[in-house]
Amino acid sequence: MADFDRNAALAAGLAPYASDPAHTRGRRHPTPAAPTRNAYQRDRDRIVHSTAFRRLVYKTQVFLNHEGDLFRTRLTHSLEVAQLARSVARTLGLHEDLTEAIALAHDLGHTPFGHAGQDALNECMAGHGGFEHNLQSLRVVDELEHRYPEYDGLNLSFETREGILKHCSPQLARQIEATEPGGVARRFLDGTQPSLEAQLANLADEVAYNAHDIDDGVRSGLLTLEQVAEVPLFARFLDATRADHPEVRDRRLLHESIRRMLSAQIYDVIDATGAALRAAAPDSADAVRRAGPLVCFGEDMRAQSRALKRFLFTQLYRHPRVVETTTQARQVVRELFAAYLAQPDELRAEFAERSDRERAVADYIAGMTDRFALREHERLTGQRLLT
Ligand code: MG
Repeated sequence: MADFDRNAALAAGLAPYASDPAHTRGRRHPTPAAPTRNAYQRDRDRIVHSTAFRRLVYKTQVFLNHEGDLFRTRLTHSLEVAQLARSVARTLGLHEDLTEAIALAHDLGHTPFGHAGQDALNECMAGHGGFEHNLQSLRVVDELEHRYPEYDGLNLSFETREGILKHCSPQLARQIEATEPGGVARRFLDGTQPSLEAQLANLADEVAYNAHDIDDGVRSGLLTLEQVAEVPLFARFLDATRADHPEVRDRRLLHESIRRMLSAQIYDVIDATGAALRAAAPDSADAVRRAGPLVCFGEDMRAQSRALKRFLFTQLYRHPRVVETTTQARQVVRELFAAYLAQPDELRAEFAERSDRERAVADYIAGMTDRFALREHERLTGQRLLT
């Protein structure tokens, strides 16, 4: 894979297979171009200024927001994803602004309390179309942000919305396709791919959380360095750091090992993707959509990254202390849902006014920060949980 010349690619600028804002498929509500910013810069800026983006700072990634000031939140996670994705985008000649916009928006639809919140809300919405955070991210940018006089939502470009809708069941895809023919859900029906920028933001998400969850896991005391050293991918860089710096230990040892692991993964993605691009030789962003997935790990790194993911799943996400908080988090979401359905007047006015009652309740709860959800839960049920 060494035949991919990173420096040459970096010097070449925007590649022919990159998304080009001059050829965007446009916005749902046609809008004149901005005088100084390209379409994707404008999308990125709209995302950063949105209410949903500011809420990410008080939403759980793995650890509940109030458990410690230094754990990742959805906001700092999203910033790390954007950083990783942008640096790869620049090297591969992809559009950095589009990559960044997708990365910053990718978790906007997450409920409070991380995956526990989403699972609980999905159960509450069984029989009413379910709840899925990717689709919710799209709903946030398409409908739930109310900032502009002429329309609901942020009115983002097609390519940014396409990247935000990372997964979609065929059933939901058919529903979206009915309202937006040939739109962002089409690829889930015809098996085509999203842009390289979208593929990259997606993989950067995985690289980011694999690394920062080790850091947060050890910081929390739920994982020990010795435990993480059982994962071959991490062990390699821990051993190398110890060999180079025998005097270094604790936090500095952890950070340096993670830093090396992150770099190795990023270089691997650049090399493997560069090789895949050379092999497929797509000559446009649309040719990318017709090719197979192109942004990837090399085979060896993919296997090692999966092993790390499995380790985090069993040892951290399923840790009894994490499970204890997720059980209570699910209760909060379930009871909030029931309370608002029984007393719609308790919803904020714009949600109380809607006729699609269950979906309105789900949208309201999904938008909450952890602490607002806990306050509302206490106000409506008299119970204090997760404090
Ligand atoms: Mg994420």
